[in-house]
Amino acid sequence: MYANVIIDIMHEKLDRTFQYEVPRELEGKLCPGMQVSFPFGNGDRQRKGYVLELTEEPQWDPSKIKKLSGIAKKGIAAEGELIALACWLKEAYGCTMIQALHTVLPVRDRVQGGEKVYVRLAGDTCKVDSYLALCGKRGYRARARLIRRLKDCPEGLDTGRLSSEGTAGMPVIRALEQLGIVRCERREAFRRPEVSKNPEYGRKELNEEQQAAVEAIWENGAAAGREGKEPPVALLYGVTGSGKTEVYLELIRRTMEEGRQAIVLIPEIAMTYQTLTRFYTRFGDQVSVMNSRMSAGERYDQFERARRGEIRVVIGPRSALFTPFDRLGLIIVDEEHEGAYKSEQMPRYHARDVAIRRAGMCGAAVVLGSATPSVDSYWHAERGDYKLVRLPHRAGAGQLPRVYVEDMRRELREGNRSVFSARLRGQMEACLQRREQAMLFLNRRGYSGVLSCRSCGEAVKCPHCVVALAVQRAGGQRHLVRHHCGDVREAPKTCPSCGSRYLSELRAGTQQIESLVRAEFPGARVLRMDMDTTRNKHDHERILSAFAAGEADILVGTQMIVKGHDFKNVTLVGVLAADMSLGAGDYRACERTFQLLTQAAGRAGRGERAGEVTIQTYQPEHYSIRLAAAQDYEGFYEREIAYRSLLRYPPCGHMLAVLASCREEEHLRRAVGYLKEMAERICAGQGVQVIGPAQSGIYRVKDVYRRNLFLKGGSLEQLAGVRRKLEKYIGANQGFDSVQIQFDPDPMQAL
Ligand code: ADP
Ligand code: ZN
Repeated sequence: MYANVIIDIMHEKLDRTFQYEVPRELEGKLCPGMQVSFPFGNGDRQRKGYVLELTEEPQWDPSKIKKLSGIAKKGIAAEGELIALACWLKEAYGCTMIQALHTVLPVRDRVQGGEKVYVRLAGDTCKVDSYLALCGKRGYRARARLIRRLKDCPEGLDTGRLSSEGTAGMPVIRALEQLGIVRCERREAFRRPEVSKNPEYGRKELNEEQQAAVEAIWENGAAAGREGKEPPVALLYGVTGSGKTEVYLELIRRTMEEGRQAIVLIPEIAMTYQTLTRFYTRFGDQVSVMNSRMSAGERYDQFERARRGEIRVVIGPRSALFTPFDRLGLIIVDEEHEGAYKSEQMPRYHARDVAIRRAGMCGAAVVLGSATPSVDSYWHAERGDYKLVRLPHRAGAGQLPRVYVEDMRRELREGNRSVFSARLRGQMEACLQRREQAMLFLNRRGYSGVLSCRSCGEAVKCPHCVVALAVQRAGGQRHLVRHHCGDVREAPKTCPSCGSRYLSELRAGTQQIESLVRAEFPGARVLRMDMDTTRNKHDHERILSAFAAGEADILVGTQMIVKGHDFKNVTLVGVLAADMSLGAGDYRACERTFQLLTQAAGRAGRGERAGEVTIQTYQPEHYSIRLAAAQDYEGFYEREIAYRSLLRYPPCGHMLAVLASCREEEHLRRAVGYLKEMAERICAGQGVQVIGPAQSGIYRVKDVYRRNLFLKGGSLEQLAGVRRKLEKYIGANQGFDSVQIQFDPDPMQAL
């Protein structure tokens, strides 16, 4: 028996298998995916690697084949399915086998978990409450805060968390321990996020639409399972607040009832306490949560528990796809339109595509859910590749909000230079008066440095192409850089379209907005959520729960505040600079803008009271903005697909991005020039167009320069063929040694 193994080193040249003989004592113990050790190279140094396959056929003279030394103790073996998935990733996305393996085996070594000290309330409720009242009288704020926090978490919280979230430090805990109000206990690190159950999230009677959606998806899954051909994919298109999560919960319940397991993918940004509580309340300890901040040890534990069958539902970002479940029955991709599902490292996979692939291997069903489906998924649904299931109405009491579009050019003409339109200002005053809450969302997605005219709304564009110019500052001077070719030229002083002097960079930050709000609405309590205020682990949760608890009237933030939360008292949403993301100059800019605006609008009016939304923009006639305001997804889709189809952009055609980076600017320029020549030669007569080289959106980061080529046209197989030829060419030329090259099929961002 022979084993083909791969060495665990991140190096392209080692991207091939080596064959070893399996010693008698290991026969029957090895299987694909196991980590083994073996002698390697001339010095026979001991190395580790993974078994990819076992075979009885020697690749060459059997007397020259070395023997495996043994099974490496620390590694975990992946299921054959995950190894097969890795093989597919390698082919589909053009990465090394080892990169593919690292993707499906995110944890290799066991990390010992330490102990943590858990604090929880001791004594009866009466005693605790009377002490809490005493704290109120004496002004013991920290003690009161700790008691209130622990009341929400009967199973206790660890001291590390209590201190990092700013609830209480050790002196306060010790003092309460001595009074017998709290108890401290050491526990083996309780490696799952501390989430408690909340009866408010108990099982709900599904409404008719939800019930019909469950049946349609279930029937679709069962049919495909019977016929065993296609992976059964359903696209659940449900407006914001239509109760998609309840549909997921019911589908998971049925899946578990059949003895099968489920994976739920959620973009990390939407993994809020509120969402997780809904899952825990329904399924208890059978649920496990993963997130990217977990240590290797914590992830390892989760995967082990999944393998042993202790957990049956995993919720997490895209890496949760690789949970080693042996009877996987359902994969849910919530907010399937989110860009976060695309990996930014090799392999640059899209979680949606990998989910469908994995489901196809084990007969599981896939549900893609969104209020604003990606153009790609909707296109597949229209063609009948996916089953389209709709939830057109809000589930609870809430109605879809009334949306206003305010033209900021007109505001300027009328002498209003403030960031707030007259309407939004009036709405905010009224909202504060009614003691309801407002959210102000600052769209900072896409190219933040685009120069645009505040009089006519035009972004200053390159004279040779339609791409917006990006602003760069050097020595206090405002320069403009052309996206495509890297020309640097001086910024115009007046608008090239209308001659107005009001050109600005659309750069107001959230901090600036926060101070403006405080200045204009002195009585209002304001919270801000952006990169700066969410640096620590629990900041996200702290800000959102404070807002949910009514501790502020206005929440100001970036796209972070748009996701996942269900604030019952929010009746006003203001979107500032809605067009900021339109100038990004890539083919998905309109789609992203439409999605962000629709999702933001969906935050309003989730409770009993109706909601209002005001979108402020310099381009009110743009279809992304107009149709988002009308909450007209189908209308948007028709416009967008016509454009994609005309220009052969995905999903109507395919692309391959070649992303090159290097420390030396000149060397990179030349290398990419050669690459382009080669690509053109390979593509000749194939109907594949080579575009570029273009500088990447972020041209220079930490002294590494980037340049991209885009191949457009042909089928994915054709493009993969071109990629393999380019890989060969790159491998054979030393000139490319200092250039890092990544391939990205159907990129999310392309010119
Ligand atoms: P989505 O995920 O589509 O945005 P959610 O599942 O979060 O929607 O539901 C939105 C709100 O409606 C939540 O507050 C939820 O509790 C409520 N809800 C959902 N389904 C029902 C139902 N069948 N009956 C009553 N309320 C419901
Ligand atoms: Zn102008």
